[in-house]
Amino acid sequence: MKPFMKHICGLLIVGIIASCATVPLTGRKQLSLVNESEIQQQAALVYKDLLGDSKTKVIKGTSQAQLVQKVGKNIASAVTRFLQENGYGNQYDFQWEFNLIQEDQINAWCMPGGKVAVYTGILPITKNEAGLATVMGHEVAHAIAKHSAERMSQSIIAQAGGVAVDVATAEKSNTTRAVLNTAYGLGGQLALLSYSRNQESEADRLGLVFMAMAGYNPNEAVGFWERMAQAKQSQGGAPPEFLSTHPSDARRINNIQKLIPEAMGYYKK
Ligand SMILES: [Zn+2]
Repeated sequence: MKPFMKHICGLLIVGIIASCATVPLTGRKQLSLVNESEIQQQAALVYKDLLGDSKTKVIKGTSQAQLVQKVGKNIASAVTRFLQENGYGNQYDFQWEFNLIQEDQINAWCMPGGKVAVYTGILPITKNEAGLATVMGHEVAHAIAKHSAERMSQSIIAQAGGVAVDVATAEKSNTTRAVLNTAYGLGGQLALLSYSRNQESEADRLGLVFMAMAGYNPNEAVGFWERMAQAKQSQGGAPPEFLSTHPSDARRINNIQKLIPEAMGYYKK
């Protein structure tokens, strides 16, 4: 490396380490090295590809599909209002979409920018509207807290030696899109997406508040997570989003019970 390049990289690294974002409501400072709007644009393309793929069966018009739409819209409008009222509005320009996908896997996700998918495999566990609000509130929380961008930023830092180089490429569309494709599984490999334990706890906390803001009683979340724990035992596992990085089921349910009073403060009947 030429000496002057080293100098530029040094400056870059300093600038990078100073890059932080703040998670709404929890106030947690997080690393932010990637361009969120770039990620959202790419996520929208990946979502479109995924829905348009011949292997993807999007369910339209059934009562279940309508319920996914209804709950999604309720949560999105409550969250959008909250962000506006608390001065976060200019940081969020989500183009919300909610789709039910025919897929046995117990899963649901929300891509950066508000592109949501619920798999039919999770419906026996959500069981009712409030259960669906629990899962969608949790997934929307991951997107609002920009957990994907944070994961990408962390992996850039983890590759210490190549920091400056990787940051330079991280904003390039094709890299971002490849990461998103891997995470959301275009081409059959579904749900490799995994968040850290801290991110899961944060999504649980925000998710309860979001469901409450949307008019769903956060106490209903306990039943959902209990049913999820049972389903995991009987099925011998669930995809990463609902298994590997999560705290143990008992600990999680315990933690959720502790978070309910805060969420009840936002509950609008
Ligand atoms: Zn999660």
